[in-house]
Amino acid sequence: MNHEPTIFDKIISREIPAEIVYEDDLCLAFNDINPQAPVHVLVIPKKPIVSLAEISEQDAPLMGHLLVVLSKIAKQIGLESGYRTVLNTGPDGGQEVNHLHFHLLGKRALKWPPG
Ligand code: AMP
Repeated sequence: MNHEPTIFDKIISREIPAEIVYEDDLCLAFNDINPQAPVHVLVIPKKPIVSLAEISEQDAPLMGHLLVVLSKIAKQIGLESGYRTVLNTGPDGGQEVNHLHFHLLGKRALKWPPG
């Protein structure tokens, strides 16, 4: 299901600026505007998927690609001691922007369980 344009669509189309750290045909990565750790990058598909709840079998290669990109970015940034990837889904999952996105958090020790 496609969604109403979100702020992330405007970042993809360059209508609004972002600190872009990676881009390819399928996805875009940029720094979170309200970082929760010294490293806080968002990785989003260019395809307008609302959330993990909306993906289908045909999105499997794309979802795999996003994980590979996350791993590459973490290496490039030098997150040798680890990092956390977060994918919030829906209101109870804490999702605020209705365009699927992975958070990549690093450069500080993160607690578990999350709040
Ligand atoms: P979530 O709560 O999982 O939907 O995460 C949405 C994230 O998008 C939050 O961490 C916000 O700080 C971030 N965010 C919202 N607007 C922007 C923006 N214009 N540029 C970068 N990050 C943003």
